[in-house]
Amino acid sequence: PFFKEFLPLNATLPLELAAKLNANENPYGPSSKAIAAVGENAFRGNRYAWTELFDLMDKIALQEGVKQENIMMGPGSSDLLEKTAMVFFQNGGNIVSADPSYMSLIKVAEATGATWKAIPLKSDWSHDLAAMEAAIDAETKLVYICNPNNPTGSMTDHTELVDFCKRVADKVPIFVDEAYLGFLEDSAQKSMISLINEGKNVIIARTFSKIHGMAGLRVGYAVALPETLGIIQKITRGGMGISFPSIYAATASMDDLAFQNKSRKLNKECREYVYKNLDRMGFKYVPSSTSFIIFPIEMDGKEFLEKMTAQKVGVRAFEFFDKNWCRVSMGTMDEMKLFTAALEKVLI
Ligand code: PLP
Repeated sequence: PFFKEFLPLNATLPLELAAKLNANENPYGPSSKAIAAVGENAFRGNRYAWTELFDLMDKIALQEGVKQENIMMGPGSSDLLEKTAMVFFQNGGNIVSADPSYMSLIKVAEATGATWKAIPLKSDWSHDLAAMEAAIDAETKLVYICNPNNPTGSMTDHTELVDFCKRVADKVPIFVDEAYLGFLEDSAQKSMISLINEGKNVIIARTFSKIHGMAGLRVGYAVALPETLGIIQKITRGGMGISFPSIYAATASMDDLAFQNKSRKLNKECREYVYKNLDRMGFKYVPSSTSFIIFPIEMDGKEFLEKMTAQKVGVRAFEFFDKNWCRVSMGTMDEMKLFTAALEKVLI
């Protein structure tokens, strides 16, 4: 594998940062409706929220065009990524994914006993689906695809991915992590969820942490075949980890389309501002479909993080394909101005 992350030392010091751009959080969230729902429902915290959870699952099922039995809830999608890894790799095997990609499921798979078959992204930053398919063998228990991908922010073509899933899911289940799909324009928000109604063994993870701005309220869900969810939930339950107020917040946030549209619009404006400034400073970034941008830097990642933190700007640093990279999350426009000023001081 190519992928290496430098210790995100600043992630532990969020309060000291003037611009916290290191965790792909949505600076505008939660929506005012979600905040009100938390306040109004905190008093229900003495009860388990099963009825309300099932209502939320119905609402999600309706939105996604599937049945309630296709939904598994979790306190954030991390929980679902990690549980899937623990269940699928309890007897070893290998996981096939892109490199670099989002490491949460892969790391838990490795810690559980899996080996990682890391397939480099192509030069256009999309998944190398042909190479991934060729890498599958008798020991492959799961394929992981993050689309749009983190940390690169890049997309793999929807039609190519549908074809891949249709062909490959009959052999091996495919986990598609769609955490950032909500930042695409409505017409481009093409999920793999429709494959569930064709009986394909794909598991799609979605989260309220990104476009809904609810990272700290912890709500996510997986959509899959009931048989597949049955295998996971036999060992580890889904929605038990979500708090009563968070369930209400998610329900309220789903109805607040104006908030989601605002997040998408401001995120795009910030992306364009950062592109413009990176162009001006001569950085070659990867075009992003998400709420973060990655670009190569000519400085050791650790030193770079230290220098940016000294400017009170939190970002992330990675190393892959023989280069060091800075990944910056889109914050508010004011935060992006602090970021560009800090970057200019540190690297120019
Ligand atoms: N998947 C991807 C690709 C992510 O980037 C993240 C968080 O950054 C997650 C999943 C997990 O987010 P959460 O557990 O908040 O849903």
